[in-house]
Amino acid sequence: MKELELYFHIPFCVKKCNYCDFLSFSPQTAAALNGQEAVTDAYMDALLLETLGRADEAGEYRVVSIFVGGGTPSLIPTGRVEELMETIRRSFCLAPDVECTIEVNPGTVDEEKLRRYKRAGFNRLSIGLQSAKEKELKCLGRIHTWPDFLKAYQAARRAGFSNINVDIISALPEQTLSECLETVQAVLALVPPPEHISAYSLIVEEGTPFYERFERGQLQLPDEDTERSMYVETGKILKNAGYEQYEISNYAREGYACRHNLGYWRRRDYLGFGIGSASLMGNERFSNADSLRDYLNAPLDQRIGRTVLTEAQQMEETMFLGLRTTRGVSGEEFVRTFNRTLESVYGDVIRRNERDGLLRWQGDCLSLTDRGMDLANYVMAQFLTGT
Ligand code: SF4
Repeated sequence: MKELELYFHIPFCVKKCNYCDFLSFSPQTAAALNGQEAVTDAYMDALLLETLGRADEAGEYRVVSIFVGGGTPSLIPTGRVEELMETIRRSFCLAPDVECTIEVNPGTVDEEKLRRYKRAGFNRLSIGLQSAKEKELKCLGRIHTWPDFLKAYQAARRAGFSNINVDIISALPEQTLSECLETVQAVLALVPPPEHISAYSLIVEEGTPFYERFERGQLQLPDEDTERSMYVETGKILKNAGYEQYEISNYAREGYACRHNLGYWRRRDYLGFGIGSASLMGNERFSNADSLRDYLNAPLDQRIGRTVLTEAQQMEETMFLGLRTTRGVSGEEFVRTFNRTLESVYGDVIRRNERDGLLRWQGDCLSLTDRGMDLANYVMAQFLTGT
């Protein structure tokens, strides 16, 4: 049976963070916009309907990973999350060791809720910390404090979670290198430390309060050199602490790389449920529309942007997604998929970047060097355009 991943999007957050351009809104905003008071309930009804209605698309698949993300899934009444898991279990063929992740934010969970998640089948928790410093959390517009995070983390351990990811962000406004590294050290000092750490750099996205401040010249971001040092030093500290970097921004203890993320970068098939969620099935990509109102009215009728990928597009995706991982792209798998060697398709690009010290072969796999990781966008763009 082929392997499949499932993603469920929960688009609600207590309030919108200042840097966030994800598809999410507060339940109050959503209720006012849609003229519907119990909007989270209505959304979960629609999500269950969609799950049941589309399960037959996964008939020939075995589900190896389930990811309930957002937004803030832990904002949804726990009984509704349990109902979702029950529906998933009844509707799909799950692998016995299915990785099952739920994203939670500090300030929205307690031990009882986490115990119920565990009982419902979640075996991996992803906690949005972002920073250990109160000043930075405030600046980001997060709803929680460092002690809130500690409480959630310790509750998660007591509830029995032995696979926890912590998200952190660097290159924050006015952040110095040492402030950035203090967050990394604070996360490593947790007892026991997390199995997985996602360490992203802030990107100021259009349409966010940060963007407006940036445009007005009121957002002081670290310069490029400081930002690079934050990335490099973070990596060094995490590697010294026993984490393996398996992707540009992701680190894990041995055996704890996120199966869901890896599947995405290796182009495993996935089905997305809920507004705005994307899917890849075979060589077809499609999404759900992002209108909450439309979704509540007709959750099974939201597919847009159906694209059958050409072979050239599949190859491009294989390269720019695969090169994000430290393993890189396997030459053998490439031949198995496309019946052509990597060199026959991308020989010139590979040779040029090898010469420049940006790409290397390790055994059968082509991957970015450390310098290539620094210039990842530049290298990947060459595979996109085929130049
Ligand atoms: S909690 Fe996450 S999804 Fe929600 S607004 Fe903040 S950054 Fe966005």
